[in-house]
Amino acid sequence: MNIAVLALQGAFIEHERMLSALGVTATELRRKSDLKTPFDGLIIPGGESTVQGKLLRELELLDPIRRRIENGLPVFGTCAGLLLLAKAIRNDNRSYLATMDIVAVRNAYGRQLGSFYHEGSFRGLGRLPMTFIRAPYIDSVSDGVEILAECGGKIVAARQGNQLVTAFHPELNRDLSVHAYFADMVRAHQAVRC
Ligand code: GLN
Repeated sequence: MNIAVLALQGAFIEHERMLSALGVTATELRRKSDLKTPFDGLIIPGGESTVQGKLLRELELLDPIRRRIENGLPVFGTCAGLLLLAKAIRNDNRSYLATMDIVAVRNAYGRQLGSFYHEGSFRGLGRLPMTFIRAPYIDSVSDGVEILAECGGKIVAARQGNQLVTAFHPELNRDLSVHAYFADMVRAHQAVRC
């Protein structure tokens, strides 16, 4: 199994470390020609959604990645990655990949509570460390979206088919369980394809 990590900006190296700790091969996706290397899943890291979105467009990666996700490629977006996958952002009129039926709120916790740590329960995985950095949350989800975690009454992790998002950064803690959960999604998708 080979999981690509979008490596244009943000915390991509941290995701690669998590995958390597799980014994999963990671490849960096930086340019259009990297799409020729087969990969079974994709991680979109945290960082700055506006910068990543602009680069995705300029590098002509946005449409091909969107098509792959629509065709079932398992994808995991953290923080800015969640914003890139959201169909709509309530306080921003931009949208990017727009493949997941969620409405997100950008920089949702405001300046005062820009970054914080929380331990909360994640459906099926128990209690997890959750590090939030100028994080979004999910304001609403459509039918077919499973809510996986909430923090202070706000949705902070969700799944729709092969798309997984977290508003927090599991790659910044030692706990590998969210990455293992995603690796299982990728494995299950491979099994269906064979
Ligand atoms: N606030 C950032 C954005 O709007 C996301 C922050 C993050 O990824 N840690 O893209």
